[in-house]
Amino acid sequence: MILETAPTPKTLVKRGQQPQVRTLFCDFDGPLVDVSDRYYHTYQLALANTFDYYREKGQPLYLTPLDKAQFWQMKQQRISDEQIASCSGLQDEHISYFLQQVSGIVNDCSLLEKDKFHQGVHWALALLHSQGVQLVLVTLRCQDQVRQILTNYGLLRLFQGVYGTSDETAAYGNNIECKTGLLKQALQEQADGKGVMVGDTEADILAAKAVGMPAIALTCGIRSFEYLQQFEPDYICHDLLSTAYHLLWTSNPTAN
Ligand SMILES: [Mg+2]
Repeated sequence: MILETAPTPKTLVKRGQQPQVRTLFCDFDGPLVDVSDRYYHTYQLALANTFDYYREKGQPLYLTPLDKAQFWQMKQQRISDEQIASCSGLQDEHISYFLQQVSGIVNDCSLLEKDKFHQGVHWALALLHSQGVQLVLVTLRCQDQVRQILTNYGLLRLFQGVYGTSDETAAYGNNIECKTGLLKQALQEQADGKGVMVGDTEADILAAKAVGMPAIALTCGIRSFEYLQQFEPDYICHDLLSTAYHLLWTSNPTAN
């Protein structure tokens, strides 16, 4: 396994030459979109709501809120929200209210607005598309919501297919079976030659393994290199742009 931290193009794909990977199945949150601001604001708001709720009941809480770097590092190590709450000063009896707040507000429109595309994503998608790689999105986000976001940024035309859910709570839960089911469906309907799955969590890697497809894990999302490594993806890259360079300009892109 190799970590590609910077693009290192070796052999440019010549005009008319097809890349080895024909179809790239790509996750949305993580590879394309940075959700760290939304998740951190959700945490802050849920903590503030919990504080207010118990203060009104005459039970003042003594909180120790995490800063963004601390919070995101814990998410990248897949530390549970219960543990994050505990590290923030909540006692066991306050944690279920905090968790209810998190799941209740994480998909609020005002928080969804904090999501932003990672730098280089537009270029990476355009580059892969221009080199003949079919792009298929496989996400636990609501399909209609994702299609709308891609339309707003002029990116929908680059995708051959978009596979998502109709359940707005699915993405935060990161359910592996659900991801595998979507990838299976996408593979049956969209695969044209060799495919590869690109994602930022264990759900993406395990879904790819379940359908017998190579997996490329990205460290620009919600899991760290060390965490992803234990699921043995075929390759670990930093982001989608370095993945695009890797797929297009290495001779055996998904080899260990
Ligand atoms: Mg993801």
